[in-house]
Amino acid sequence: MNFRAYPRLAAHWQILLALILATIVGLSLKLVGDSAALGPLRDGFLAVSGFVGDLFMRALKMLIVPLIVASVISGITGLQGVTGLGRLGAKTIALFLTTTALATVLGLTLVNLLKPGLENGQPNRVIREAFMAQAETAGEGDLAKVSTAAGREATDFLDIFRKMIPENVVQAASDNGQMLGVILFSLLLAIAVTQLPGEKTRGFREFVETAHEAMMVLTKWVMALAPLGIFGLMVPIIFKTGPELFVQMGTYFVTVLSGLMIHLFLVLPLVVRVFTGRNPLPLFREMRPALMLAFSTASSSGTLPVTMRCMQEGAGVSKRITSFTLPLGATINMDGTALYECVAVLFVAQVMGVEMGLAAQAFVVVASLLTSIGVAGIPSASLVAILLILKNSGIPEAESAVIALLAVDRLLDMSRTAVNVFSDSCTALIMAHMEGEKIFPKSGPRA
Ligand code: ASP
Repeated sequence: MNFRAYPRLAAHWQILLALILATIVGLSLKLVGDSAALGPLRDGFLAVSGFVGDLFMRALKMLIVPLIVASVISGITGLQGVTGLGRLGAKTIALFLTTTALATVLGLTLVNLLKPGLENGQPNRVIREAFMAQAETAGEGDLAKVSTAAGREATDFLDIFRKMIPENVVQAASDNGQMLGVILFSLLLAIAVTQLPGEKTRGFREFVETAHEAMMVLTKWVMALAPLGIFGLMVPIIFKTGPELFVQMGTYFVTVLSGLMIHLFLVLPLVVRVFTGRNPLPLFREMRPALMLAFSTASSSGTLPVTMRCMQEGAGVSKRITSFTLPLGATINMDGTALYECVAVLFVAQVMGVEMGLAAQAFVVVASLLTSIGVAGIPSASLVAILLILKNSGIPEAESAVIALLAVDRLLDMSRTAVNVFSDSCTALIMAHMEGEKIFPKSGPRA
């Protein structure tokens, strides 16, 4: 089966078309009133659409665990012993931290410049009241999400990192939010395999290698359904999104989105240029399907299979590099999320009238950087981290604020996830270049 379900249109155009169509249909459905004739029809359409979207998301998520396990193990057992792994690992993590730190500082600068939570230098009362109103009218799902986070995880910074070492790897593998534990276990298992005599491990290595290749074929199949799945996913989201809070929080949106854009189109390309000497444009071109999928699904982990495919087949980065850097990146390297956390926390502080001095802001920067590592690659995952930082910074009404942020989160989540995924691809590309691989084989000689 081909990656492209409809051969004449490339995958990214199909996804874009699905997004545009979903926006038009979602907005048009808003115009349909609750009349006896049309109301049930509209609701029926929304239910079917949501169901199709759900099936697509489930299919993507179904790939995550086997793909991570197969790719990490086959990648490591393919490296030249653990020495190669140490070098690769150290450089990869250093790059992850560098780009995430740049993103956080960018977020900090913008939120101090644009001051989205203030009006004429004073805390914005309208937004504060909107926070309270939103908290009062929030649906049960939102309340449950935030209160579980507040009650358990948010009180303990270390909890995010504790999950790195799972007590039970099968249990960790059954939760898409705990991929770090699965990666760590796969890494250790693969290193253990490299310690055994070669002839003993051949069968095992061939098995994981085949499993990895089979997962890439499965990804192709799921991606063939992407246009339909994304349409189904987006229609109910666009239909449900109300404009009210968006209008009040306009400057906040501008702050977050401009930060993400600057990071995506200026900072990251510059980092690629500096480290590889290559024009970063072909990377955008090759990553188009993955970026659009990340934008549509708001899940770095869900996008991982496609990111791997784009980087291997498009950018020409070896399996040796992608199978290590990308699963790790999808879980711990979140530039967009770190930037967002930093802006969101300082925005809420401004709205609540809490003066944040240099030390308090430095804490927010470090906390955003660290928690972005522990945040899972699933939709709205960073709101737990935001709640945690707000509480530890002594900012009042943290729960109400986070419920309100959750209500307007989707567009920002989609955008920051695309940045998260692009940053992973930049690191993979830089690592490939550093390891002497020929990147962008289709673009010819050095640009
Ligand atoms: N949705 C983001 C991701 O999957 C995580 C977050 O910032 O909520 O990368």
